[in-house]
Amino acid sequence: MVPLDGQAIAEPADVLIEDGVITGAGPAVATGPAGVTVVEGDGRWLIPGLWDAHVHLGQWALASRRLDLSGTSSPEEVLALVRRAAQAGRPVIGTGQRAGSWTRPVTVAELDAVSGGLPVVLINADFHHAWLSTAALDALGLARRDVVVAEAEWFEAYPRVASFETPADPADYQRVLGQAAAQGIVGLVDFEFDTPWTDWARRWPEGCDSLRIRWSPYAGQLDSVRAAGLRTGEALPATGSDGRLTVGSLKIISDGSLGTRTAWCRQPYADTGGFGAPNQTAAELADIIAAGHQSGLSVATHAIGDEALETALAAYAATGARGSIEHAQLTTSQALADLARLGLVASVQPAHLLDDHETMDRVWTDRVERCFTLRSMLDAGIGVAFGSDAPVAPLDPWLAIASAVHRGQPGDEPWHPEQSITAAEAIAASVDGRRVAAGQPADVALLDADPLAADAAGLASMRVALTVVAGRVVHEGRPG
Ligand SMILES: [Zn+2]
Repeated sequence: MVPLDGQAIAEPADVLIEDGVITGAGPAVATGPAGVTVVEGDGRWLIPGLWDAHVHLGQWALASRRLDLSGTSSPEEVLALVRRAAQAGRPVIGTGQRAGSWTRPVTVAELDAVSGGLPVVLINADFHHAWLSTAALDALGLARRDVVVAEAEWFEAYPRVASFETPADPADYQRVLGQAAAQGIVGLVDFEFDTPWTDWARRWPEGCDSLRIRWSPYAGQLDSVRAAGLRTGEALPATGSDGRLTVGSLKIISDGSLGTRTAWCRQPYADTGGFGAPNQTAAELADIIAAGHQSGLSVATHAIGDEALETALAAYAATGARGSIEHAQLTTSQALADLARLGLVASVQPAHLLDDHETMDRVWTDRVERCFTLRSMLDAGIGVAFGSDAPVAPLDPWLAIASAVHRGQPGDEPWHPEQSITAAEAIAASVDGRRVAAGQPADVALLDADPLAADAAGLASMRVALTVVAGRVVHEGRPG
């Protein structure tokens, strides 16, 4: 077993699982009743099953159908790919471009010039804006313009983009859930935008029930959540009561993103001179958080900039709400102290560091030492939970873990290594507080290599031999 809390590595151990629960763990555990199925670990390394604490699963399931723009580095490269895709004569939905790293703003006119009059929607990697052709603006009921559609206007319009593409079906969900299981994932927090809980209740019996899922409502769904009597931690109605499909936190997006320069900061961005912006007034934010709290929901508030973070923390303090801050990409010493004092979880996506560090060096030049402050968070006693924010980054827990430890791609010079954490700490931030111990849910992953001894490349590409959720095998790899 991999020691996550600093104790010395014990000799090879046995783990006994009965009825979805670990009933024994340690050297030479009695096998209990006859007829126990024995799975040989062959000296592999066992960890609690991994969680991704921040996923947009519908987006991730659809990503493989969309035009992949993640490999582009300029508007010109994007336009060339759109020109080719538009030759098929169908609307083009593209995703993954990183406009935050481009050296110029784009225009609708240049997109129209390559899109042959078709609706084209190019969703930026951070999801906080999209570059639309005039035909797409018209079809989605948006005013014509010559700039991108961003933030609240974009989030409001996004659900209508579904009219241009085939929706993700159960097979798409089964595929991405299976891929997650193959990486040792046992649970996902699904922050898909504005999807009713009934979507999951319908999908669950359609073979999409392999992992634990926490479904998370957005503020606009609060009335329907109250009407259905849904509270954080409870099983969704009609999906069985074994607790694998539950209500998560109320999700609130309080500011924008670095890539769109809308993350709300205390100091201006070096390139635009703007400060970003909040999506609500401080009073409105506190009202929504209070409403969620009073409805029995924990609250997950997206806050990337330091001003957004401190504003959100003040609202939690005033309302007594519990839950998490999502991203917490730019912190202050005051915010770290408040996160710890309020007992809120910092839900962080370490792999964003790989995509963002050049932009942070350029536009947050005066505050880079306050970005992705994982070491400071742990030292302050803050509970940290890792996620991917897929599809913003790939749904890959090992990429997140390796990014947190090595602060860069394997082989890169670490970016601000003073904020590195250990592999044991990074795994502990990825297991939803679980341990391999008697009385814990039987959610485990068996690794082909010792993650605490792996180098950067080995950690980022960890092979998983077996994944078990509530005692049920959901992934079994070939012997490595
Ligand atoms: Zn997200």
